[in-house]
Amino acid sequence: MDLGIRGRKALVCAASRGLGRACAAALAADGVEVTITGRDADSLARTADEIAAASGQPVAIVPGDIASEEGRAAALEACPDADILVTNAGGPPLARFETLQDADWHAALEANMLSPLALIRALQPGMRQRGFGRIVAITTALIKSPSELLSLSVGARAGLTGAISWLAREGVVDNVTINTLMPEMIFTDRMRTGFAAMAEHAGQDPESFVADFRNALPARRFGTPEEFGAFCAFLCSAQAGYVTNQHILVDGGHYQGLF
Ligand code: NAD
Repeated sequence: MDLGIRGRKALVCAASRGLGRACAAALAADGVEVTITGRDADSLARTADEIAAASGQPVAIVPGDIASEEGRAAALEACPDADILVTNAGGPPLARFETLQDADWHAALEANMLSPLALIRALQPGMRQRGFGRIVAITTALIKSPSELLSLSVGARAGLTGAISWLAREGVVDNVTINTLMPEMIFTDRMRTGFAAMAEHAGQDPESFVADFRNALPARRFGTPEEFGAFCAFLCSAQAGYVTNQHILVDGGHYQGLF
């Protein structure tokens, strides 16, 4: 299926690996000129080379922390007229609510709420003027099923989801949509590291720990970053212009609730 976005420009944040990288790769495979950001210049450059080699599309890089004002300014300078924006950053640390200090909240809000909002504020007006825009914010499935260690992640991302909701309805008249993708159980480096730590904590061999976990999932497997990236690319397609203000789980049925 031709997604109708060949030649469009995309800014994809925190994309040297994992979900951000997969979104950038899927967009590039559909002919989008992608600019990717990430904190480590070397791994970002390697990722850009690999995506460019696979897609035949030029991939620009902007090293820097997207949670910082300087990082965002550099990203916006490199891609001031993005048609597609995928917001992303590392998730906040796990911690029980009572242990959290204001500084923890400020850091989580900066990375997972204020940074995406600032990028949307900067890019959405130009998208509306040009009559095309697709904004996808990567959040987390756990907004719908919070647990004891996730106050920072759920708080910041639920705030983001609420804050963009009116804008997402307002922009659609100019063919600019805003949606969020809520991942869970997509096997990336972050999950690999998390499982290693959990296995050690449980005193279990990492491989059998992961296998037990996987076999308890509805799909009996983890999701792949490629599946996530392809779904993101569809949300950024010309055909998805009537989908806005939606918050979509990509979790292989892990969430048990009805809505
Ligand atoms: P990952 O650790 O595999 O990749 C994250 C990427 O973002 C890395 O390249 C990292 O260098 C980069 N990055 C992190 N913080 C950054 C920053 N401030 N500025 C620039 N680059 C930054 O993680 P992932 O699994 O791809 O997760 C991406 C996001 O999705 C995270 O916020 C995570 O909390 C969320 N998430 C993922 C899952 C999942 O199933 N993988 C589940 C729930 C939530």
